[in-house]
Amino acid sequence: MPVIKALPSLKEKKILMTHGGWAGHKPKEYTEKVAQLLREQGAVVTLSPSVAVYSDSFFMAGLDLVIQSVTMDKISKEEEEGLLTAIKNGMGFAGCHGGAGDSFRAATEYQYMVGGQFTSHPGGQVDHSVQITNPNDAITKGIASFDIHSEQYYMHVDPNVKVLATTTFSGEHNKWIEGATMPVVWKKFFGEGRVFYFSVGHNVELFDEIPQAKDLLIRGIKWASGSKYEEKEEWLSPVYPN
Ligand SMILES: [Zn+2]
Repeated sequence: MPVIKALPSLKEKKILMTHGGWAGHKPKEYTEKVAQLLREQGAVVTLSPSVAVYSDSFFMAGLDLVIQSVTMDKISKEEEEGLLTAIKNGMGFAGCHGGAGDSFRAATEYQYMVGGQFTSHPGGQVDHSVQITNPNDAITKGIASFDIHSEQYYMHVDPNVKVLATTTFSGEHNKWIEGATMPVVWKKFFGEGRVFYFSVGHNVELFDEIPQAKDLLIRGIKWASGSKYEEKEEWLSPVYPN
């Protein structure tokens, strides 16, 4: 069994949470709720209703983590570059669902950083399950697989990311994807920065209803907050052998 290193603490971590874009994901409510959970653990959290702050290089250089909830919006070249430079230099990035996986459809460098992009959720709100496929990680250790009624994201995913949980499509809505397995939780690096993504999260309430989902989110955030303090991890988990 590999040794699983404990997750970093959130105490005094400097976290920026940005929200915006499509209102259907209630980005402000989600952000305020998560901010409260992080503050309870001692994090210093700043909220911003815009990603304009990404172009403030001095401010960004002082952060440990950005958590973003911005769906189907636009980002300027300067903002994108500001975010990506900070991550390359060791700031972490975390997000879930469309807030990080469908944020800026025209921004390919941003998508390169996240490691995936939303493409479809066949059938809309559907019953499905999330399987913990790699329990040998501090983010997933001891967390049970779970059932959920929500959007099941079909994504285009970087085949090198370290996948921790997946979901399998029934084919009920798109017959040709019956049995197709899709990553739900992954981790990766972008430069020195840790990147955590979780495709669940259409409704903020589901993090109250499903304790495993809440645990995965908080643990992923903790992990991503530690890039500047922790050792670099091996993250490449190539689907295709070289
Ligand atoms: Zn959604």
